[in-house]
Amino acid sequence: TSKDSGKNKFSVFDQEMNRYQLRRMSLEKDLRKALARSEFMVVYQPKWDSLMNVTVGLEALLRWKHPDHGIISPAEFIPIAEETGLIVPITYWMLQDVCVQNMSWHKDQIANVPVSINMSARMFENGSLYDVVSEALASSGLEPHFLELEITESIAMNNMEETVAQLSKLRDIGVRVSLDDFGTGFSSLGNLDEIPVNTLKIDQVFIRKSKMHSKKAIISNIIAIASNLNMEVVAEGVETPEQIELLQSLGCRVMQGFYYGRPMPVNELGQWFIENTA
Ligand code: C2E
Ligand code: MG
Ligand code: MG
Ligand code: MG
Repeated sequence: TSKDSGKNKFSVFDQEMNRYQLRRMSLEKDLRKALARSEFMVVYQPKWDSLMNVTVGLEALLRWKHPDHGIISPAEFIPIAEETGLIVPITYWMLQDVCVQNMSWHKDQIANVPVSINMSARMFENGSLYDVVSEALASSGLEPHFLELEITESIAMNNMEETVAQLSKLRDIGVRVSLDDFGTGFSSLGNLDEIPVNTLKIDQVFIRKSKMHSKKAIISNIIAIASNLNMEVVAEGVETPEQIELLQSLGCRVMQGFYYGRPMPVNELGQWFIENTA
């Protein structure tokens, strides 16, 4: 009867919720031990100058190698890390790891490009970002302009005064800043010129194959805004030659996406740079 099926649906939903909550709770518990157990790994995705055909930067992306569940996507564990505050020590570890890694690519003359790290809102809450970044640069010996922080519009707009103050101090010593997922954050454009930003990263939703032609006007205007504000532009999520052609025709030359390179572990990047450096 309809009454029974209604009841069944409810209990299936209940079970789903329960399973979701159980996984969430168990991941949270494991996440608290993951740093100490060295379960995090950094992978690097190239940013590619499509006219010069060279790698012009890398984005560092976090991977969690869970002992039972295998590799867990950042889409699943970053929100947990943010809610619990664990993202702060994790990002401190990552800053250190990435600076040391990039410095060793320089020393070994393997690569000379900036590496970016994604920032959560939490990183701007306790006022210590400047000190932590300076320490990672000093102890690794990496020059500040080889480090880039990726922030989102919502981070920038939330508590704008404080965020801008901290970013400005970092920019003053040469650290680069990019605005990630640009165009999806409903930011007020009126403030964009007040945030110290080197680069706008056009979000993948505009670049997606099925959407791209209908989003041409938006993409073109993001490129114009960047150019008028003296910012560079990077297109995210580039997967096909058609996307590259259209982006180039709109004046965008730097791209990041599976077409050029997937995020790679350190041991694959040596070979990558041999094959993809001018
Ligand atoms: P994001 O910063 O916008 O990073 C780009 C994401 O798009 C990465 O996913 C990357 O693998 C993926 N991607 C790159 N090219 C393509 C493409 O051509 N097609 C498609 N479909 N996807 C592409 P990933 O590594 O799974 O990271 C997802 C998000 O998780 C990141 O988005 C970022 O917001 C967050 N995240 C990753 N690592 C960190 C981290 O260390 N700290 C913080 N706070 N967030 C992180
Ligand atoms: Mg990013
Ligand atoms: Mg992005
Ligand atoms: Mg994103």
